[in-house]
Formats: sequence, structure tokens, C-alpha cells
Amino acid sequence: MTTTYQDYIDGAFVAGQGETIDVLNPATQALLARIPDGGQASVDAAVAAARRAQPAWEALTNIERAGYLRRISAKLREKVDHFASIIVAEQGKLRGLAEVEVNFTADYIDYMAEWARRIEGEIIPSDRKGESIFLDYRPMGVVAGILPWNFPFFLIARKMAPALVTGNTIVVKPSEETPINAYEFARLVAETDLPAGVFNLVGGRGATTGAALSGHTGIDLVTFTGSVATGVRIMQAAANNLTRVNLELGGKAPAIVLADADLDLAARAIVDSRVINTGQVCNCAERLYVERPVAEALVAKIAERMQVVTMGDPSADASVGMGPMINEAGLKKVEAMVEQARADGATVVTGGARGDDARGWYYPATLVTGCRADMEIMRKEIFGPVLPVQVVDSLDEAIALANDSEYGLTSSIYTRDLAATMKAMRELKFGETYVNRENFEAMQGFHAGRRKSGIGGADGKHGLMEFVETHVTYIQS
Ligand code: NAD
Repeated sequence: MTTTYQDYIDGAFVAGQGETIDVLNPATQALLARIPDGGQASVDAAVAAARRAQPAWEALTNIERAGYLRRISAKLREKVDHFASIIVAEQGKLRGLAEVEVNFTADYIDYMAEWARRIEGEIIPSDRKGESIFLDYRPMGVVAGILPWNFPFFLIARKMAPALVTGNTIVVKPSEETPINAYEFARLVAETDLPAGVFNLVGGRGATTGAALSGHTGIDLVTFTGSVATGVRIMQAAANNLTRVNLELGGKAPAIVLADADLDLAARAIVDSRVINTGQVCNCAERLYVERPVAEALVAKIAERMQVVTMGDPSADASVGMGPMINEAGLKKVEAMVEQARADGATVVTGGARGDDARGWYYPATLVTGCRADMEIMRKEIFGPVLPVQVVDSLDEAIALANDSEYGLTSSIYTRDLAATMKAMRELKFGETYVNRENFEAMQGFHAGRRKSGIGGADGKHGLMEFVETHVTYIQS
């Protein structure tokens, strides 16, 4: 029998009233489970529960709150297999990467718990005699976390752990594409001693449950990861209540390869960047600028690597190199972009045609050369395993082309030249720059997009501070 999950509100699982949503395996279209489309009623109940729980949660010491987080992560470490299997089935991720995601999630919760003893206030010198000025940090209150499907499990922790350690309570809405891992996480939370109402989970579609959550007067901060279009809608809904927003949106990461680069290293890292999670990663290389003298050699190395990437159902065959895309819409978008590039005069060197497994949403690793800056494929987020390539004649040209983008999340450069590295570091206008390595951020860094890639950021000390407000006390004595 197919499981129908229930929302987790105020420490209890609550039967949904409205419609349900089918959750499918993207490799087979098999029905995995159903979730409620909770809508306004569930959101109202969850926000009310989070509000009731927040004062007592804030009143605990930081280290007490961290203790709850650590007990959650400890339980999680016992269930890596369980959660990895769910992620493989509902998202189409390869088993190895799913295990990395679950372990990274547990590490992330522990990392944020470590901040309990490090969130420090400040004493500020006063201009007035006998006055002391103290600056301290307070929780925002109730946080809404709205999640995408591409790293569904990790994103729960990225929202929840910093929110909770700083004294906020939270209502999480997972993506309707990949909600099962979140409902199973709620089960795990329910087995711990976390007080009722501190963590709540509501399922549903974006237009119903997501919109109700982002426009709710009881929410103090909406932290969202997903597409630019949805980010705009969330910001508009939040604006009605002047609710704070933290938005991690799309990317179009440039990779620059200079003539002196280690081409084997560059080819390996860039192909991995396109193949990992079937190219559905916000920070991975999405366009390549290569200096003319090495363009032919690099393209050959990339093509060679892409041609051996196998595709298939990762639940059935652990050896496949790439799983399916998340859904038909994602596949059709990628197909259309490659076709448009062909029509605009680009050359498809390898890949470029949908896989022949009619059940899954398969698209092969695809290399497109002869691209120009005005082509859609060089400007719009692809979110699939496709690499468009443009040849350049200098680092200056590459940097100018890289910066000429509405996105500003991550960037990378491959070179052995220190001066070129330093110039790229100074001049690339992106939240992150990776040098001679794959694009993958560290939890102690700061993951933040410029321009349409987002507002605010996540991870590290700076990410943690997105969940607090600054308070100042002036004492005259
Ligand atoms: P999406 O925007 O379609 O959906 C994300 C979430 O928003 C889902 O839970 C959805 O139900 C909800 N939603 C949709 N409409 C809504 C509305 N009107 N109001 C409130 N919520 C609504 O994104 P996706 O397809 O799940 O994820 C892919 C996108 O996410 C890509 O653009 C990718 O670049 C981006 N992403 C960014 C980062 C980052 O760190 N910057 C990380 C992962 C993914």
C-alpha cells in the first residue's frame, strides 16, 4: 500500500484535509508515496505552533539548544542508508552522492551546533562619560524554510540548524518533487526530545502551501533556495508584511581555462561539475571560456570524458555514471536549449539527444562548442548535463564575458599563474571563486549569490548571522 505522509505540526503528525500530491521516482515513474497539499490551514497551524514554542526555545541557553541539534545529528548518523535510499529513489541521485549528502547534513548540524559557544556580543566604546554600550544578537522569531529538490535533505539542515541554534523556531516546506526525505526526517525529529513546535513540516505545492507560508504575517524570516522566478514571488509575498528574506537562487557559473592550465585537471573537474547530480546543481560550471591555444585539446579531453558517462536508474544499477533528470519539464527545457544553440550555429560535439529509456527523464552529458555570448545557452541557467564552450583570446576577455551575466553565484579558473589567479579573484564579480578545483562550497565558507543569484547567504559565521537581529543596550551609570 502507498504511504500517505502527514504534516508534522506542534510535535504531532496531523492528517491533511485537502488534496494529496503523488511523489514519483524520476527513473521509473513509479508512485513512491503521497503527501498532503496542506495549504493555508496547515500553514496557519504550523506557524501558530512555531510562535507558541519560540519564547521557551529562545529562553534556553545556546548550549542547551545545541544539545538538541546534536541528538538529532547522532540519530541521523545511524540512518544514513535509510535516508540515502530515499534520496536515490525520489530524486534520482547516485547512491554515493546521496550518502555524501546525508553525512554532510549530519556534519552540518554539528557544525552549526558548535557556534553555540562562539556567538559573541560586543562592547562598543561610548562617546559619553560613564556610558556602556553593549551589542548582542537576538533570534528573528519564526523562520520559514522553503526548499528545492536538488539537495533536498541537506537544505533542511542548512535552514534548520542555524535557525534553531540562534533561538528561532522553524516551519519547513520541502519541494513537492522530493518531500519523502523531509517527512522521514520529521519522524526522526519526533523520536528525539526536541520540544513540540520548534521544528514543523508542511507539505504542498508552491502556489498553495509555499505562497501561504511566504505571505504569512506570523513569519519573521523566509529563507528560500530555488529558482529566480520563485524567489521574486516569495519576495513579493514577504514584502506585504515587510518579512525579511534570504534567497539562494540560480546560477550560471563560468569556468575559465587559461593556456597554461593543467588541462587534465580542468577537464576532470569541469566534466564532474556537469555530470554530478545530472547537472542539476546551482553552483556547478555552466559555461566554459577557454583560451584559444588550448581550446581544441581541452574540448577533446572533455568530450572523451563525457562519452563514457553511462546513464540509468541508480536504484537498480549502482554503477551508472548519471541518473535521470528530476522531471519531464526539466528534460524538455534542456533539450530545447541545445536545439536553440544548434539553430544559432553552435556545434554539438557529443550527446545532444535524449536517452532511449522511455520511462526515465534521461539526457546525456552534452558538449556544445562554437558558442557566442549572445546565445541563450551561454546566458540562461541550463540545470542539466550540458556544457557550452566559447573560445577567448585573453583573461581580460574571459573575465568580461563571465561578469556579463544576470547571475553571480560561483565562478572558477584553471591556471598555474599566480598573477592571473589574483586578477581573477579581484575582478570576478561572483559570491565564490574556485581555483584549480571543482565548485563545491565548504560549510565554514559563505555561499551567497550576487545580482539575481540571491540576497544574503548561507554557511559559516556570516550565514549564521542571517538568522539573528542585532540589539544594542546603552547604560548610563
Ligand atoms: P523552484 O523555485 O521551482 O521551487 C523551490 C521551492 O519553492 C519548492 O518547494 C516549491 O514548491 C516552492 N515554490 C514554488 N512556487 C512558490 C511560490 N509562489 N511561493 C512560495 N514557494 C513556492 O526551484 P527548484 O526547481 O526546486 O530548484 C531548482 C532551482 O534552485 C535552480 O534554479 C537552482 O539554481 C536553484 N538552487 C539554488 C541553490 C543556491 O544555493 N543558490 C541551491 C540549490 C538550488
